Amino acid sequence: MLQSKSPVLKLDTHASTRYLLNVRNVEPKKEPRRFRAEIVCKTPMPLTFQEYRPRKILDVHRHVDGPWFWTKYSAHPYIGCRSGCEFCYLRDGRYLGKRDPDTFDTLIQVKLNAVELLRRELFGLNHDVIACGDWQQPVEDRYRLSRGMLEVVHEANFPLFIVERSPLLARDLDLLVAIKQRAWVGIAISFSNVDQKLKQAFEPRSPGIKRRLQTMATLAQAGILVGAALMPIIPFADDDHTHLEEAVRATQEHGGSFVLAGGLTMAGAQAERTLVAARQFNATLETQWREFYNWQEESKPNYSPSRGYAARLGLLVRELCARYGLQDRMPRYLQPGPLAINKRVAEKLFLKTYDLELAQAHASRIWTYRKAAWTIEEWPQSIAELFAARGEAGLQTLPEIGKNLAREIAQWLQAEAALVTTNPNPHDPKI
Ligand code: SF4
Repeated sequence: MLQSKSPVLKLDTHASTRYLLNVRNVEPKKEPRRFRAEIVCKTPMPLTFQEYRPRKILDVHRHVDGPWFWTKYSAHPYIGCRSGCEFCYLRDGRYLGKRDPDTFDTLIQVKLNAVELLRRELFGLNHDVIACGDWQQPVEDRYRLSRGMLEVVHEANFPLFIVERSPLLARDLDLLVAIKQRAWVGIAISFSNVDQKLKQAFEPRSPGIKRRLQTMATLAQAGILVGAALMPIIPFADDDHTHLEEAVRATQEHGGSFVLAGGLTMAGAQAERTLVAARQFNATLETQWREFYNWQEESKPNYSPSRGYAARLGLLVRELCARYGLQDRMPRYLQPGPLAINKRVAEKLFLKTYDLELAQAHASRIWTYRKAAWTIEEWPQSIAELFAARGEAGLQTLPEIGKNLAREIAQWLQAEAALVTTNPNPHDPKI
Protein backbone atom coordinates (compact mmCIF):
# COMPACT_ATOMS: atom_id res chain seq x y z
CA MET A 1 0.00 0.00 0.00
CA LEU A 2 1.26 3.43 -0.92
CA GLN A 3 2.36 5.26 2.19
CA SER A 4 4.31 8.20 0.83
CA LYS A 5 4.09 10.77 -1.95
CA SER A 6 7.83 10.82 -2.41
CA PRO A 7 9.34 9.13 -5.50
CA VAL A 8 10.49 6.27 -3.32
CA LEU A 9 7.34 4.43 -2.44
CA LYS A 10 6.89 2.22 0.56
CA LEU A 11 5.04 -1.01 0.46
CA ASP A 12 2.66 -2.82 2.62
CA THR A 13 4.36 -6.19 2.61
CA HIS A 14 1.06 -7.98 3.02
CA ALA A 15 -0.72 -6.26 0.15
CA SER A 16 -1.92 -8.50 -2.64
CA THR A 17 -0.85 -5.88 -5.15
CA ARG A 18 2.63 -4.47 -5.25
CA TYR A 19 4.78 -1.80 -6.77
CA LEU A 20 7.56 -2.44 -9.17
CA LEU A 21 10.59 -0.58 -10.36
CA ASN A 22 9.75 0.96 -13.68
CA VAL A 23 12.61 0.24 -16.04
CA ARG A 24 13.60 1.61 -19.38
CA ASN A 25 16.49 1.09 -21.72
CA VAL A 26 19.30 3.54 -21.38
CA GLU A 27 21.19 4.45 -24.50
CA PRO A 28 20.64 0.98 -25.92
CA LYS A 29 22.58 1.70 -29.08
CA LYS A 30 25.62 3.12 -27.34
CA GLU A 31 25.83 0.65 -24.52
CA PRO A 32 23.77 -2.36 -25.49
CA ARG A 33 25.42 -4.78 -23.07
CA ARG A 34 26.43 -2.51 -20.33
CA PHE A 35 23.15 -1.39 -18.84
CA ARG A 36 19.88 -3.05 -19.48
CA ALA A 37 17.82 -0.74 -17.42
CA GLU A 38 17.79 2.31 -15.23
CA ILE A 39 15.63 2.74 -12.20
CA VAL A 40 13.56 5.83 -12.91
CA CYS A 41 10.68 5.68 -10.47
CA LYS A 42 8.41 3.27 -8.71
CA THR A 43 4.88 2.82 -9.88
CA PRO A 44 2.11 0.45 -8.87
CA MET A 45 1.96 -2.79 -10.82
CA PRO A 46 -0.09 -5.91 -10.30
CA LEU A 47 1.59 -9.03 -9.07
CA THR A 48 0.79 -12.18 -11.00
CA PHE A 49 0.58 -15.65 -9.51
CA GLN A 50 0.86 -18.74 -11.59
CA GLU A 51 -0.40 -21.84 -9.85
CA TYR A 52 0.89 -25.15 -11.13
CA ARG A 53 1.58 -28.71 -10.07
CA PRO A 54 5.17 -29.77 -10.65
CA ARG A 55 6.11 -33.46 -10.67
CA LYS A 56 8.89 -33.09 -8.15
CA ILE A 57 9.92 -30.71 -5.39
CA LEU A 58 12.85 -32.16 -3.48
CA ASP A 59 16.44 -31.50 -4.47
CA VAL A 60 18.81 -34.12 -3.13
CA HIS A 61 22.22 -32.49 -3.06
CA ARG A 62 25.13 -34.51 -4.30
CA HIS A 63 27.09 -33.64 -1.16
CA VAL A 64 26.13 -32.07 2.13
CA ASP A 65 26.64 -28.29 2.13
CA GLY A 66 29.55 -28.18 4.61
CA PRO A 67 30.85 -26.06 6.19
CA TRP A 68 28.01 -23.60 5.49
CA PHE A 69 24.40 -24.72 5.95
CA TRP A 70 25.02 -28.48 6.27
CA THR A 71 21.95 -29.24 4.18
CA LYS A 72 21.47 -32.43 2.19
CA TYR A 73 17.98 -31.68 0.84
CA SER A 74 16.03 -28.61 -0.19
CA ALA A 75 12.46 -27.94 -1.27
CA HIS A 76 10.77 -24.61 -1.93
CA PRO A 77 7.13 -23.89 -2.73
CA TYR A 78 7.46 -20.69 -4.80
CA ILE A 79 9.62 -19.46 -7.69
CA GLY A 80 10.25 -15.73 -7.87
CA CYS A 81 10.24 -13.27 -4.99
CA ARG A 82 8.12 -10.20 -4.53
CA SER A 83 10.85 -8.43 -2.55
CA GLY A 84 12.91 -8.25 -5.71
CA CYS A 85 16.23 -7.39 -4.08
CA GLU A 86 18.55 -6.11 -6.78
CA PHE A 87 21.42 -8.40 -5.78
CA CYS A 88 19.36 -11.57 -5.38
CA TYR A 89 21.20 -14.54 -6.90
CA LEU A 90 17.84 -16.21 -7.58
CA ARG A 91 17.39 -13.86 -10.53
CA ASP A 92 19.95 -15.95 -12.33
CA GLY A 93 18.86 -18.31 -15.10
CA ARG A 94 19.98 -21.42 -13.25
CA TYR A 95 17.18 -20.81 -10.74
CA LEU A 96 14.56 -19.17 -12.96
CA GLY A 97 15.03 -21.50 -15.91
CA LYS A 98 13.80 -20.02 -19.15
CA ARG A 99 11.76 -17.33 -17.44
CA ASP A 100 12.49 -13.70 -18.23
CA PRO A 101 14.63 -12.58 -15.24
CA ASP A 102 12.80 -9.26 -15.19
CA THR A 103 9.65 -11.14 -14.11
CA PHE A 104 11.44 -12.42 -11.01
CA ASP A 105 9.49 -10.06 -8.76
CA THR A 106 6.23 -9.71 -10.72
CA LEU A 107 5.41 -13.34 -11.41
CA ILE A 108 5.34 -15.78 -8.51
CA GLN A 109 4.95 -19.41 -9.49
CA VAL A 110 3.12 -21.35 -6.81
CA LYS A 111 3.68 -25.10 -6.47
CA LEU A 112 0.18 -26.00 -5.34
CA ASN A 113 1.07 -29.60 -4.56
CA ALA A 114 4.27 -28.73 -2.63
CA VAL A 115 3.11 -30.37 0.59
CA GLU A 116 1.94 -33.66 -0.96
CA LEU A 117 5.11 -33.89 -3.06
CA LEU A 118 7.35 -33.33 -0.06
CA ARG A 119 5.51 -35.98 1.96
CA ARG A 120 5.93 -38.48 -0.86
CA GLU A 121 9.55 -37.66 -1.70
CA LEU A 122 10.86 -37.63 1.87
CA PHE A 123 9.46 -41.08 2.50
CA GLY A 124 12.25 -43.65 2.75
CA LEU A 125 15.13 -41.15 2.56
CA ASN A 126 17.93 -41.09 5.11
CA HIS A 127 17.29 -38.48 7.75
CA ASP A 128 19.45 -35.47 7.08
CA VAL A 129 19.05 -31.70 7.18
CA ILE A 130 16.47 -30.25 4.81
CA ALA A 131 16.13 -26.59 3.86
CA CYS A 132 12.53 -25.88 3.04
CA GLY A 133 9.77 -23.30 2.87
CA ASP A 134 9.77 -19.68 1.83
CA TRP A 135 8.22 -17.00 4.01
CA GLN A 136 9.51 -14.15 1.86
CA GLN A 137 6.28 -14.24 -0.12
CA PRO A 138 3.46 -12.35 1.58
CA VAL A 139 1.20 -14.74 -0.32
CA GLU A 140 2.41 -17.45 2.06
CA ASP A 141 -0.23 -16.00 4.37
CA ARG A 142 -2.82 -17.22 1.88
CA TYR A 143 -1.35 -20.48 0.54
CA ARG A 144 0.38 -21.57 3.75
CA LEU A 145 2.52 -23.99 1.76
CA SER A 146 5.63 -23.34 3.85
CA ARG A 147 3.70 -24.13 7.00
CA GLY A 148 2.36 -27.28 5.37
CA MET A 149 5.91 -28.30 4.48
CA LEU A 150 7.01 -27.78 8.08
CA GLU A 151 4.20 -30.09 9.17
CA VAL A 152 5.60 -32.76 6.85
CA VAL A 153 9.14 -32.23 8.16
CA HIS A 154 7.77 -32.61 11.68
CA GLU A 155 5.80 -35.77 10.83
CA ALA A 156 8.83 -37.27 9.09
CA ASN A 157 11.22 -36.35 11.93
CA PHE A 158 13.72 -34.59 9.69
CA PRO A 159 16.12 -31.93 10.97
CA LEU A 160 15.46 -28.53 9.45
CA PHE A 161 17.49 -25.55 8.31
CA ILE A 162 15.99 -22.24 7.17
CA VAL A 163 17.65 -19.13 5.79
CA GLU A 164 15.11 -16.35 5.72
CA ARG A 165 14.67 -12.61 5.36
CA SER A 166 11.03 -12.43 6.42
CA PRO A 167 9.52 -11.99 9.90
CA LEU A 168 6.53 -14.01 8.69
CA LEU A 169 8.60 -17.03 9.72
CA ALA A 170 7.71 -16.27 13.36
CA ARG A 171 4.09 -17.15 12.55
CA ASP A 172 5.20 -20.80 12.56
CA LEU A 173 7.14 -20.69 15.80
CA ASP A 174 4.98 -23.45 17.29
CA LEU A 175 6.00 -25.87 14.54
CA LEU A 176 9.65 -24.84 14.64
CA VAL A 177 9.74 -25.58 18.35
CA ALA A 178 8.01 -28.93 17.77
CA ILE A 179 10.56 -29.90 15.09
CA LYS A 180 13.39 -28.87 17.37
CA GLN A 181 12.03 -31.05 20.16
CA ARG A 182 11.78 -34.05 17.87
CA ALA A 183 14.88 -33.55 15.68
CA TRP A 184 16.76 -30.27 15.20
CA VAL A 185 16.29 -26.75 13.84
CA GLY A 186 18.89 -24.21 12.72
CA ILE A 187 17.87 -20.83 11.34
CA ALA A 188 19.92 -18.09 9.71
CA ILE A 189 18.18 -14.73 9.53
CA SER A 190 19.47 -13.11 6.40
CA PHE A 191 20.52 -9.49 6.01
CA SER A 192 23.47 -7.79 4.41
CA ASN A 193 23.98 -5.03 6.93
CA VAL A 194 22.03 -2.86 9.35
CA ASP A 195 22.49 0.31 7.29
CA GLN A 196 19.14 1.75 6.21
CA LYS A 197 20.63 3.68 3.30
CA LEU A 198 22.18 0.55 1.85
CA LYS A 199 19.00 -1.40 2.38
CA GLN A 200 17.06 1.28 0.53
CA ALA A 201 19.55 1.19 -2.34
CA PHE A 202 19.80 -2.56 -2.84
CA GLU A 203 16.71 -4.14 -1.31
CA PRO A 204 14.09 -1.41 -0.90
CA ARG A 205 11.11 -3.76 -0.77
CA SER A 206 12.43 -6.49 1.48
CA PRO A 207 11.19 -6.74 5.09
CA GLY A 208 12.69 -4.21 7.51
CA ILE A 209 15.95 -5.12 9.18
CA LYS A 210 14.65 -4.31 12.68
CA ARG A 211 11.77 -6.74 12.17
CA ARG A 212 14.19 -9.42 11.01
CA LEU A 213 16.31 -8.90 14.10
CA GLN A 214 13.21 -9.04 16.26
CA THR A 215 12.40 -12.38 14.63
CA MET A 216 15.88 -13.55 15.52
CA ALA A 217 15.25 -12.57 19.14
CA THR A 218 11.90 -14.36 19.18
CA LEU A 219 13.47 -17.56 17.85
CA ALA A 220 16.37 -17.35 20.27
CA GLN A 221 13.98 -16.84 23.20
CA ALA A 222 12.18 -20.01 22.10
CA GLY A 223 15.47 -21.91 22.41
CA ILE A 224 16.05 -22.31 18.68
CA LEU A 225 19.57 -22.22 17.27
CA VAL A 226 19.61 -18.97 15.30
CA GLY A 227 22.24 -16.72 13.80
CA ALA A 228 22.83 -14.33 10.94
CA ALA A 229 23.55 -14.93 7.28
CA LEU A 230 25.22 -11.70 6.21
CA MET A 231 24.53 -12.28 2.55
CA PRO A 232 25.48 -10.79 0.34
CA ILE A 233 28.22 -8.57 1.69
CA ILE A 234 28.40 -5.70 -0.80
CA PRO A 235 31.96 -4.83 -1.89
CA PHE A 236 33.12 -1.29 -1.06
CA ALA A 237 29.75 -0.58 0.57
CA ASP A 238 29.33 -2.71 3.69
CA ASP A 239 32.47 -4.85 3.79
CA ASP A 240 34.32 -2.47 6.11
CA HIS A 241 35.02 -3.04 9.79
CA THR A 242 32.32 -0.61 10.96
CA HIS A 243 29.45 -2.11 8.96
CA LEU A 244 30.46 -5.67 9.80
CA GLU A 245 30.86 -4.93 13.47
CA GLU A 246 27.40 -3.32 13.57
CA ALA A 247 25.91 -6.45 12.01
CA VAL A 248 27.76 -8.85 14.31
CA ARG A 249 26.84 -6.76 17.37
CA ALA A 250 23.19 -6.66 16.30
CA THR A 251 23.24 -10.45 15.97
CA GLN A 252 24.65 -10.85 19.45
CA GLU A 253 22.19 -8.37 20.93
CA HIS A 254 19.26 -10.30 19.44
CA GLY A 255 20.26 -13.72 20.70
CA GLY A 256 22.04 -15.01 17.59
CA SER A 257 24.87 -17.43 18.19
CA PHE A 258 26.64 -17.51 14.83
CA VAL A 259 27.36 -15.29 11.85
CA LEU A 260 27.96 -16.55 8.32
CA ALA A 261 29.12 -14.01 5.76
CA GLY A 262 29.18 -14.45 2.01
CA GLY A 263 30.36 -12.14 -0.73
CA LEU A 264 28.26 -10.82 -3.59
CA THR A 265 28.13 -13.10 -6.63
CA MET A 266 27.42 -11.66 -10.06
CA ALA A 267 25.66 -13.37 -12.94
CA GLY A 268 23.51 -12.33 -15.88
CA ALA A 269 20.59 -10.00 -15.27
CA GLN A 270 21.26 -9.94 -11.54
CA ALA A 271 24.74 -8.53 -12.15
CA GLU A 272 23.44 -5.82 -14.42
CA ARG A 273 20.66 -4.76 -12.04
CA THR A 274 22.99 -4.77 -9.06
CA LEU A 275 25.47 -2.59 -10.89
CA VAL A 276 22.73 -0.09 -11.72
CA ALA A 277 21.68 0.05 -8.06
CA ALA A 278 25.32 0.43 -6.99
CA ARG A 279 25.93 3.27 -9.42
CA GLN A 280 22.82 5.08 -8.25
CA PHE A 281 23.90 4.69 -4.65
CA ASN A 282 27.43 5.87 -5.25
CA ALA A 283 28.84 6.58 -8.70
CA THR A 284 32.34 5.54 -7.72
CA LEU A 285 31.21 1.99 -7.01
CA GLU A 286 30.92 1.22 -10.70
CA THR A 287 34.61 1.75 -11.39
CA GLN A 288 35.56 -0.17 -8.27
CA TRP A 289 33.26 -3.09 -9.13
CA ARG A 290 34.43 -3.28 -12.73
CA GLU A 291 37.95 -3.76 -11.50
CA PHE A 292 36.92 -5.99 -8.59
CA TYR A 293 34.94 -8.39 -10.79
CA ASN A 294 37.27 -8.01 -13.78
CA TRP A 295 34.22 -6.75 -15.64
CA GLN A 296 35.19 -5.13 -18.91
CA GLU A 297 32.82 -3.62 -21.42
CA GLU A 298 31.26 -6.36 -23.55
CA SER A 299 32.32 -9.09 -21.13
CA LYS A 300 30.87 -10.95 -18.18
CA PRO A 301 31.97 -10.24 -14.62
CA ASN A 302 33.75 -12.86 -12.54
CA TYR A 303 31.08 -14.82 -10.72
CA SER A 304 32.50 -14.32 -7.26
CA PRO A 305 35.02 -12.15 -5.42
CA SER A 306 38.64 -13.27 -5.44
CA ARG A 307 39.94 -15.84 -2.94
CA GLY A 308 42.03 -13.16 -1.28
CA TYR A 309 39.01 -10.93 -0.72
CA ALA A 310 36.91 -13.83 0.58
CA ALA A 311 39.70 -14.78 2.98
CA ARG A 312 40.08 -11.23 4.31
CA LEU A 313 36.33 -10.95 4.77
CA GLY A 314 36.15 -14.31 6.54
CA LEU A 315 39.02 -13.42 8.87
CA LEU A 316 37.46 -10.10 9.77
CA VAL A 317 34.12 -11.74 10.55
CA ARG A 318 35.93 -14.43 12.56
CA GLU A 319 37.72 -11.77 14.59
CA LEU A 320 34.48 -9.85 15.21
CA CYS A 321 32.62 -13.02 16.16
CA ALA A 322 35.33 -13.89 18.67
CA ARG A 323 35.04 -10.41 20.15
CA TYR A 324 31.25 -10.76 20.57
CA GLY A 325 31.28 -14.38 21.72
CA LEU A 326 29.75 -15.79 18.54
CA GLN A 327 30.81 -18.53 16.11
CA ASP A 328 31.63 -17.87 12.48
CA ARG A 329 30.29 -21.31 11.44
CA MET A 330 26.94 -22.87 12.22
CA PRO A 331 27.10 -25.97 14.43
CA ARG A 332 25.85 -28.99 12.50
CA TYR A 333 23.18 -31.50 13.36
CA LEU A 334 24.37 -35.01 14.17
CA GLN A 335 21.94 -37.84 13.74
CA PRO A 336 22.51 -40.21 16.68
CA GLY A 337 23.68 -43.68 15.71
CA PRO A 338 26.74 -45.58 14.55
CA LEU A 339 27.41 -43.17 11.65
CA ALA A 340 27.42 -40.07 13.87
CA ILE A 341 31.18 -40.45 14.22
CA ASN A 342 31.57 -40.25 10.44
CA LYS A 343 29.60 -36.99 10.40
CA ARG A 344 31.63 -35.61 13.26
CA VAL A 345 34.93 -36.36 11.51
CA ALA A 346 33.57 -35.07 8.21
CA GLU A 347 32.60 -31.87 10.00
CA LYS A 348 36.20 -31.45 11.15
CA LEU A 349 37.43 -32.00 7.62
CA PHE A 350 34.94 -29.47 6.21
CA LEU A 351 35.93 -26.93 8.86
CA LYS A 352 39.54 -27.51 7.93
CA THR A 353 38.76 -26.58 4.32
CA TYR A 354 37.34 -23.29 5.59
CA ASP A 355 40.39 -22.59 7.73
CA LEU A 356 42.60 -23.31 4.74
CA GLU A 357 40.53 -20.98 2.58
CA LEU A 358 40.97 -18.21 5.13
CA ALA A 359 44.71 -18.95 5.15
CA GLN A 360 44.67 -18.81 1.33
CA ALA A 361 46.28 -22.23 1.14
CA HIS A 362 46.91 -23.81 -2.23
CA ALA A 363 43.69 -24.96 -3.90
CA SER A 364 44.95 -28.55 -4.17
CA ARG A 365 45.38 -28.75 -0.40
CA ILE A 366 41.84 -27.47 0.15
CA TRP A 367 40.49 -30.01 -2.32
CA THR A 368 42.33 -32.81 -0.55
CA TYR A 369 40.38 -32.06 2.63
CA ARG A 370 37.10 -31.43 0.80
CA LYS A 371 37.21 -34.75 -1.03
CA ALA A 372 38.18 -36.53 2.18
CA ALA A 373 35.21 -34.86 3.92
CA TRP A 374 32.86 -36.15 1.23
CA THR A 375 34.27 -39.65 1.53
CA ILE A 376 33.88 -39.84 5.29
CA GLU A 377 30.49 -38.09 5.26
CA GLU A 378 29.10 -40.59 2.77
CA TRP A 379 30.85 -43.78 3.93
CA PRO A 380 28.15 -46.34 4.79
CA GLN A 381 30.02 -48.01 7.68
CA SER A 382 31.39 -46.55 10.89
CA ILE A 383 34.97 -45.41 10.39
CA ALA A 384 35.47 -45.80 14.15
CA GLU A 385 34.85 -49.55 13.74
CA LEU A 386 37.17 -49.64 10.75
CA PHE A 387 39.88 -47.89 12.75
CA ALA A 388 39.35 -50.18 15.75
CA ALA A 389 39.72 -53.25 13.53
CA ARG A 390 42.54 -52.19 11.23
CA GLY A 391 44.08 -48.96 12.54
CA GLU A 392 45.41 -46.25 10.23
CA ALA A 393 45.99 -48.82 7.49
CA GLY A 394 42.24 -49.45 7.47
CA LEU A 395 41.51 -45.72 7.09
CA GLN A 396 43.90 -45.60 4.15
CA THR A 397 41.72 -48.07 2.25
CA LEU A 398 39.06 -45.34 1.99
CA PRO A 399 39.01 -43.30 -1.22
CA GLU A 400 40.83 -39.95 -0.99
CA ILE A 401 42.41 -40.81 2.38
CA GLY A 402 46.21 -40.93 2.22
CA LYS A 403 48.74 -41.61 4.94
CA ASN A 404 48.79 -38.09 6.44
CA LEU A 405 45.03 -37.72 6.47
CA ALA A 406 44.63 -41.18 7.98
CA ARG A 407 46.92 -40.10 10.81
CA GLU A 408 44.97 -36.88 11.38
CA ILE A 409 41.65 -38.74 11.36
CA ALA A 410 43.03 -41.36 13.72
CA GLN A 411 43.92 -38.63 16.21
CA TRP A 412 40.41 -37.21 16.01
CA LEU A 413 38.88 -40.66 16.48
CA GLN A 414 41.01 -41.26 19.55
CA ALA A 415 40.02 -37.87 20.96
CA GLU A 416 36.33 -38.58 20.29
CA ALA A 417 36.63 -41.98 21.96
CA ALA A 418 38.17 -40.35 25.03
CA LEU A 419 35.34 -37.82 25.06
CA VAL A 420 32.71 -40.57 24.94
CA THR A 421 34.44 -42.38 27.80
CA THR A 422 34.13 -39.32 30.02
CA ASN A 423 30.67 -38.27 28.76
CA PRO A 424 28.41 -40.81 27.03
CA ASN A 425 26.50 -38.10 25.14
CA PRO A 426 29.07 -35.40 24.31
CA HIS A 427 27.48 -34.20 21.07
CA ASP A 428 23.78 -34.21 21.82
CA PRO A 429 22.39 -32.75 18.60
CA LYS A 430 19.49 -31.14 20.42
CA ILE A 431 21.77 -28.93 22.49
S1 SF4 B 1 14.03 -11.47 -0.06
FE1 SF4 B 1 15.60 -13.04 -0.43
S2 SF4 B 1 14.77 -14.33 -2.09
FE2 SF4 B 1 13.59 -12.42 -2.06
S3 SF4 B 1 14.61 -11.12 -3.55
FE3 SF4 B 1 15.47 -10.62 -1.53
S4 SF4 B 1 17.30 -11.91 -1.35
FE4 SF4 B 1 16.03 -12.76 -3.03
